[in-house]
Amino acid sequence: MNKLFRCPKCKTAKKDAKFCSECGEKLESFSDASGIWKPEAMWRVTTQGDEEGRTTKQLGVHEGHIVDIAHKLSAESFYDLCFEPVLAVKKAEIREPRSSVHVTLGYDSGTTTMESSARQAYFRAMIKDRDDVKITESNYYGAVVFNFKKKEPVRGGPNDR
Ligand SMILES: [Zn+2]
Repeated sequence: MNKLFRCPKCKTAKKDAKFCSECGEKLESFSDASGIWKPEAMWRVTTQGDEEGRTTKQLGVHEGHIVDIAHKLSAESFYDLCFEPVLAVKKAEIREPRSSVHVTLGYDSGTTTMESSARQAYFRAMIKDRDDVKITESNYYGAVVFNFKKKEPVRGGPNDR
């Protein structure tokens, strides 16, 4: 097994290298003094995709403490959640939240058949406790758009350069 290192800036792991191939930062050990992997990392998480374990379901790339990520993904686990250090980040793997998304409540809500302005009013009343979302008209059937107001960027993230 190769000794693993970690870039303190990108949080990605590297094998047998001194400097990060992505940002040039000096690498730190991926393990603590006892040789145990540090819990904070950029993790690629998978679980079994079927009972025989013939397929693997990708649960994405997650940066943070293994306990927090395991808790967050616990409902996605088939038999187990497999955590592997991400060696290099492909930008496409980091699923940044979008700034907006189309949302419907389905037919039973009665909102899909409403006039667009009435539907928007319904959603505005529904989420009146939230001032970080703006409701606008959607071009999709029965939907509205949730427009998320910008939050502070996460410090030290892979896209924070
Ligand atoms: Zn780096």
